[in-house]
Amino acid sequence: MEQAYAGLSLERIYVGAGALGVLPELLVELGVEGTAALVHVARPEPGLDALVAEAGSLVGRRLELRHITPRRGPHGVVLDEATVEEAVEASGEVDVVIAVGSGTISDLAKVVAAEAGVPLVAVQSAASVNGYSNGLSVLMRRGIKRTTPTASPTALLIDPEVLAAAPARLRQAGVGDAVAVCTSPADWYLARAAGFDASFDPAYFAPVQADVAELHAAAADGDMDALVRALTVGGLAIAAVHSTAPLSGSEHLMSHVVDMVAAHRHAAHDYHGAQVGAGSVVFAALWRHLLADPAHVSRHDGPRRPSLADLEERSREVWAAIDPGGGLGRDCWAVAGAKWRSVLEDPTAVEALLEGWDVHLAALDETIDDVDRPLATLEAWGAPTSFADLDPALDDDAVRWVLRALPFVRDRFTVVDLLVLTGRWDDDLIDRLVTASHASSR
Ligand SMILES: [Zn+2]
Repeated sequence: MEQAYAGLSLERIYVGAGALGVLPELLVELGVEGTAALVHVARPEPGLDALVAEAGSLVGRRLELRHITPRRGPHGVVLDEATVEEAVEASGEVDVVIAVGSGTISDLAKVVAAEAGVPLVAVQSAASVNGYSNGLSVLMRRGIKRTTPTASPTALLIDPEVLAAAPARLRQAGVGDAVAVCTSPADWYLARAAGFDASFDPAYFAPVQADVAELHAAAADGDMDALVRALTVGGLAIAAVHSTAPLSGSEHLMSHVVDMVAAHRHAAHDYHGAQVGAGSVVFAALWRHLLADPAHVSRHDGPRRPSLADLEERSREVWAAIDPGGGLGRDCWAVAGAKWRSVLEDPTAVEALLEGWDVHLAALDETIDDVDRPLATLEAWGAPTSFADLDPALDDDAVRWVLRALPFVRDRFTVVDLLVLTGRWDDDLIDRLVTASHASSR
């Protein structure tokens, strides 16, 4: 089976058994000669090593091969400044970049291809994230995770049999990344309503929500096609909007904060999608609560708006728990502070949002797919559903801290920020969410 999705800078997507076999012909079509940088992890695990070897041999028939294997810390590959710089230097002048691996390798190869200004061919080894099909990389800059425009693959090769043979934790992480779309568009909606991001358009997430709705049934027969479709179409939606916003809301922010803390402590963290799945259960619970009663957001006694100084103090306090030196807090406030400054200096849009909350809540109900879907779908795939299930596990205090940090990480406006402005992002609500994080439908 050969299947083509709509164009964009990603021109070719090959999905089917033996998809790797198109490599030689593809390189001819792309008119590539000379040297290929083959990006993969050093000492790949069984299965992945065979895929790397096969790709190497197919590419090696036409081109000279340069292996790029990023340095591996005690907890795997982290795309910090040094790792990225080393990979770019090691690849030097090349004519094409071939990525063989999962999300981190793909994100690194996008940087290498962008720096070299050459085409990227991505061979997907797991259905673990939606990032394969777009030109954005999540990079660690000064200890903070940032989504950075890099290069889109020119071609993406997906063999569902390869994906099915990858460790179960990886496809379970893919399900976690996919279910974010059940609630993430609500944050995108609020960002528009609060005057931050005018690009909101259901055309970018409704098809992904429809694909994710198929995932529950697909779990029973281990149907990888449904998962591939949900993740690939999701990645294309991100490429089309030039922003992760439709598919990445507060649940993703939780995952990024967990990563940042782990990086700061030189500690391990679980897969992106596993963390996002647990975060999706939390934010589905928040939306179940908010949709139940408009009074959970709007206040009869008027918004109890914090001052910029209050917020800066809260931000400083929250980050000091991780970095008493204050560096992480200062770097985060440099970004998140701009969001707070702009919303407090001109609160017109937020005031209108709160005044028309009943109407907005009805629109948000339409935007949100199904608040029961994240938990049910994760359970169907045997995926972790709570932060306590992750490896390493987060205890309730850690989850509580992550939730308190959310308003002070980045400049994208979310439901959490709205609740901060109405004085509702308080210990009671955070405790409620910590309890909900352990939910089970069984
Ligand atoms: Zn994601």
